[in-house]
Amino acid sequence: MPTNPIPTELLERLADRAQTEGISESVLLQRWLDAAAPTASLYVSAPVNALVEGLYREDTTIADILSQGDFGLGTFNDLDGEMVVLDGEVYQLRSDGRAYAVTSDTRTPFACVTHFRPWSEEIIDTPLDYPGLQGLFDRLIPSHNMVYAIRLDGLFDYVRTRSVPRQDAYRPLVEVAREQPEYEFENVEGSMAGFWTPEFMQSVAVPGYHLHFVDAARQHGGHLLEARPRQIHIRLQHLPRVDLGLPMTLDYLTANLTRDTRDDLNEAEH
Ligand code: ZN
Repeated sequence: MPTNPIPTELLERLADRAQTEGISESVLLQRWLDAAAPTASLYVSAPVNALVEGLYREDTTIADILSQGDFGLGTFNDLDGEMVVLDGEVYQLRSDGRAYAVTSDTRTPFACVTHFRPWSEEIIDTPLDYPGLQGLFDRLIPSHNMVYAIRLDGLFDYVRTRSVPRQDAYRPLVEVAREQPEYEFENVEGSMAGFWTPEFMQSVAVPGYHLHFVDAARQHGGHLLEARPRQIHIRLQHLPRVDLGLPMTLDYLTANLTRDTRDDLNEAEH
């Protein structure tokens, strides 16, 4: 005989309450589960201004990152490529534009992740240029003062990405970014993971739209510079909380992080 994991008393209360409210038991149960679920948040493993100042090594592992979310982006220690996290899988897109396997003890100086549970989705089957895509995001996002996780899957007429080359520490990000290789894809199927982050959070995470691309075969991709989608599925999640990690490395503890890094970040990331 199968055992029932829900106590009989609770099932009776559920049935009574559903009848009183005139809704089905399953709808009510889902409401209870949603209310009990932890509030969605963006986890940022370290403030991005440390990365901008050339702190390319921290102790946060991929296992730590996956315990905080199954979706997001970032980079790797020594700035060794772009990170994409989709459905709990982590891809390392090195400066040759190719994806490499990542182990759970691989480390990252900066990553942003969340447990992706989209609350809205749209299918867009009109081709868009990049300003058109950004305009579409702007229309889908109710407030620019919130954080949103954004996932795109589908077909793109054109995608342009870059992947940072492995670096020694303390070389400012803006200098590194000037010599990063770029890659172009035409007629490509793939996915993008990323976030909208408000401008006022510029010392914590990359402000504005920040997306990383990986193709459908999960073989190529990088930090998104430009995209022209043809037919895409867009999913969005509102993140009303931010959880910021502060590293414990000596480098981090003794760094001077008082400089305004906004201009460097805009040049390096957009
Ligand atoms: Zn990026």
